[in-house]
Amino acid sequence: MTTLDIRGLHAAVVDDETVTPILKGVDLTVRSGEIHAVMGPNGSGKSTLASCIAGHPKYRITGGSVTLDGQDLLAMPVNERARAGIFLAMQYPVEIPGVSAANFLRSAAGALRGDPPRLRAWVKEVNQAMALLEMDPAFSQRNVNEGWSGGEKKRHEILQMEVLKPKIALLDETDSGLDVDALRVVSQGVNRSVQAGLGALLITHYTRILRYVRPDFVHVFYQGRIVESGDATLADTLEGDGYARFGLRDEPAGGRS
Ligand code: ADP
Ligand code: MG
Repeated sequence: MTTLDIRGLHAAVVDDETVTPILKGVDLTVRSGEIHAVMGPNGSGKSTLASCIAGHPKYRITGGSVTLDGQDLLAMPVNERARAGIFLAMQYPVEIPGVSAANFLRSAAGALRGDPPRLRAWVKEVNQAMALLEMDPAFSQRNVNEGWSGGEKKRHEILQMEVLKPKIALLDETDSGLDVDALRVVSQGVNRSVQAGLGALLITHYTRILRYVRPDFVHVFYQGRIVESGDATLADTLEGDGYARFGLRDEPAGGRS
C-alpha cells in the first residue's frame, strides 16, 4: 500500500530572470489502486503539478510538501523519485534520436532496479506488453518517439508504465489526440496497472477516457489549485456543463495547454 501525499503545494515556473507563481496550494492524496482524474481548463497548472511531483528543474517549489509513504519526494533528485516509484507520462513525449526503444526501456529498468534485467526474460515481457497495447514489435528497434505519431507515442508511454511498474503514475493527457482504438488500448493498459496496485493521477481535458477508465475521484483544477472534488459523477456534470457550472472559464489566449 502506497500513499502519495501533496499538502499545500505552491510552485513557480522559473524562466531566465522571471519567477511566475503557478501552483497556489494543492492538496491531494493518491493511494494504491485508486484512479484520480484531474480536469481543468487550459493553463490552469495541471502539467505544472505533474512536473513538480516528478522533479522537473524548470519549477521552483515555494511552499508545501510532497511525500511518498512519508518520504520527502521534494528533497530527492529526479532519478531517486523514479526509484521511489513515481512515473510521469509526459503530455509531450520527447524524441530521443539515436536511442532505440528497446535500449531505452532496458536501460530505464536497469537504472530503476540497480541491475539490467536478464535479456531473454525481459524481451519476452516487453513483447507481451507490446502485443497487449497492439504495438508493432518493430517499434523496439526504432528511435524513441522519432517520427512516431501522437498515438504511437502515447502507447509507448503506457508500455513504459506497464513494464517499469511504478507505484504512482502521473498520466498527463495521455488520452489527447488518440483515435478510438488507441484510446481503448491505452485505457486497458491503465486499468491493468491499477488492478495490479498502481495509483493513477489521470490529467485530462476530456471526459472521453473516463468511459473506459472509471475514476474513483474527480478533481476540478483551476488557477493553480483544486477547487472541487467528487466522485465519477462530477465528470459527467462537467461533460454536460463544462466548467461554467463552477463559475470558471478557459484562461485567456496565451495560456499553454
Ligand atoms: P495546463 O497543463 O493546465 O494546461 P500548465 O501547467 O502547462 O497548464 O501551465 C500553467 C501556466 O503556467 C500557464 O499559464 C502557462 O502559460 C504558464 N507557464 C508555463 N511555462 C511557463 C514559462 N516558462 N514562463 C511563464 N509561464 C509559464
Ligand atoms: Mg498540460
